[in-house]
This record gives sequence, structure tokens and C-alpha cells, in this order.
Amino acid sequence: MDRIRVSILGATGLVGQWMVKLLANHPFIEVVGLSASPGKVGRKYGEAVHWFIPGDVPEYARDITLVSTEPSDHKSADVVLSALPNDIAWPVESKLLSAGLSVISNASPERMNPRIPLINPEVNWEHLGILREVKGNWIVKNPNCTAAIISMPLKPIQDLIDSLHIVTLQSVSGAGYLGLSYLAIDGNVIPFIKGEEEKIDAELNKMLGRQYPDKFDPWGKPIYVTTTRVPVKYGHMAVIHAVLTKDVDTEYIINRLSRFRSLPQERELPTAPREPIRVINRVDAPQPARDLDPMAVSVGRVSIKNRVLRLVALGDNLVRGAAGITILTLETMKALNIL
Ligand code: NAP
Repeated sequence: MDRIRVSILGATGLVGQWMVKLLANHPFIEVVGLSASPGKVGRKYGEAVHWFIPGDVPEYARDITLVSTEPSDHKSADVVLSALPNDIAWPVESKLLSAGLSVISNASPERMNPRIPLINPEVNWEHLGILREVKGNWIVKNPNCTAAIISMPLKPIQDLIDSLHIVTLQSVSGAGYLGLSYLAIDGNVIPFIKGEEEKIDAELNKMLGRQYPDKFDPWGKPIYVTTTRVPVKYGHMAVIHAVLTKDVDTEYIINRLSRFRSLPQERELPTAPREPIRVINRVDAPQPARDLDPMAVSVGRVSIKNRVLRLVALGDNLVRGAAGITILTLETMKALNIL
């Protein structure tokens, strides 16, 4: 398949807007359909969208008429990219699958289904291999945004880790455009995000484990997670303590992190960051206001004491954590001749 035609569900939401933006002038992915909630169907994208992310609505998308999520509205797409809210996504996605369409989805339902690959391309592109056995259409899930960001610096050092203790500081945009009221979060920190801790534990275990056609073997290391919501617009941060299996020094860890490259870098895929992990030397890095990169994960505060490694990771929840992964997964599938 030389060119890939996609349609985007939830195209007016935060994740959907980023997909629309990232696909402007893409070398081989073409947007053929955009969908929003029933109240916006029939309107032009440029008029209906409340554009919230940096820059303007891309020219190509402005005059596209919004359609429903019904399979008949997406017949001309090779792949449907879903950025639908979690509570409505699965009934829509399963209907698309029954109608013979293939889907890459950001929504959480069925992420832990043993037959559905959960993909962060640099971390576990090999898991896409199970789709070679699938005849016809397929679905791939993106991980939870925080699991996507954290899995990146864990991948190059996973063989050195015995257990993990993670505290997250997650931005408000992680809850979607209408997600959290200003009064609830302004000047505040909320030490609870419903369902998030369980997702991070389970999804890290799936991505860092082994995937077979009908099951996966989880990585199997204990992971203790506390998630918090902080009054930051964009970027999720995680303070990670890893109990190590052997004595190594900080330089050794920094080398492994900063030299990490994977298939998306080797194949120079259009959405792949050249350096997937940016280790920043500044003492007070990483900070959402200064160090947020769309697709790379920024890492700082790397130190080791009593065989416990501490590092702080920061990533863009809307791009690396959602829209960017969707597109990079599609590019990876093309590179692997899986489409
Ligand atoms: P959002 O800003 O709330 O956007 C939701 C989108 O879904 C909008 O386009 C909305 O259209 C559309 N929609 C709502 N109800 C619909 C319905 N009944 N039928 C069809 N379309 C409907 O949410 P988001 O933050 O972009 O998140 C989208 C998905 O990505 C969620 O599953 C979320 O869990 C996941 N995700 C989000 C993040 C993040 O950091 N935000 C990261 C990773 C994954 P209208 O504009 O017409 O309302």
C-alpha cells in the first residue's frame, strides 16, 4: 500500500486535533474523513472545531464535512483512527470491525485483550507481528498516555529492574477538552485519577512483556504507582524509582538511555523523533514549561543510591501519549508490510 487513507473519529477533541495537525502534508497518509459528536455532523470541520492546540486549523481540513461514526461513513478509509471518549469507544469500534474496517484506537477498553496488540512503537513494535497471522481487518490499541511516556525510558534498562515505584504529575489536558473544571484544579493538586494507577501497572506489564497471537506474558515486575493531577496544561511527568538487580553507575544508565534507538529511528519514519529519549543535564530538568518535546521523552535527575535508580521523565500526553503514537504505529506497520 503506497498511500494510506485514514478517517479520524473524535477529530474535534484534543487528541483528534493533534492528529489533524500531524497529518497535514504527511508524505503517505491522507485524511479522507473527519467525525465528531452527532450535534456537529454535517458542519465543516473549520467552523465546528474549537481549535485549542498551537497553530491554526490546517488548510486541508477546514472544508471537510464532519460525518458520523457509522461504518458507512468511513468506507473510503483504509484505517480508522479513533480518539473517541472511553465510555463510547468500544461499541463504535467493534461495529467498525464487524463491518470489515481496521482501527487504531486511543481509548482504553480492550487494551488488555490478549489478542489485541498494545503498541508504543519504539518500545514493542515486535508485538505488531501477531497481525501477520490475522486474515482481514484488525485493531491496534495505543497505551494510556502516562504508560506510553514511562515505558520509553524503562525499555533500554528493563533487564536491570527488580521493582518500580512511580509517582506521576499529570497535566489537565490529560482529561480531555472538557475534563476538569478550573475551580477544581487551579492552585491545587489532586492525588487521585480514577483507574489510572491500575492502567499504568497493567499496560507497562503488557508492553514490556511478550506478545503471542492469542496471549501475552506480562513483564512480571512489581510496579507501585501513585497518580496525581497538577495545574499544568500540557505534559505528564513521572518520578520513577527503580530497584536495580545489580550495581551499575549513573553514567552507564545515562548511556543506555541516550543511545537508545529502535525501528522507527532506523527506518527514519516521518513521525519518529531522532532521539526518542533526551537526557537533559540541567539540574532542574525536566520541566513542562521548558523541556516538553512532542514525540521524545525528556529525562533528568538521574541518580543512583543504594542500588535504587531515580529518574524523572516528561512527555507530551497529547502527542507522544496519543496522536503521535497513532500515526507512528501506522507508519511502523507500513514499514513492516503489515497493512
Ligand atoms: P476530548 O477532547 O474530550 O475529545 C472527544 C472527541 O470525541 C471530540 O471530538 C468529541 O466531539 C467526540 N465525541 C464525543 N462524544 C461523541 C459521540 N457520542 N459520538 C461521536 N463522537 C463523540 O478527548 P481527548 O482528550 O481528545 O481523548 C480522546 C481519547 O483519547 C479518549 O479515549 C482518551 O482516553 C484518549 N487519550 C487521551 C489523552 C489525553 O492526554 N487527553 C491521552 C491518551 C489517550 P465533539 O467535539 O463534537 O464533542
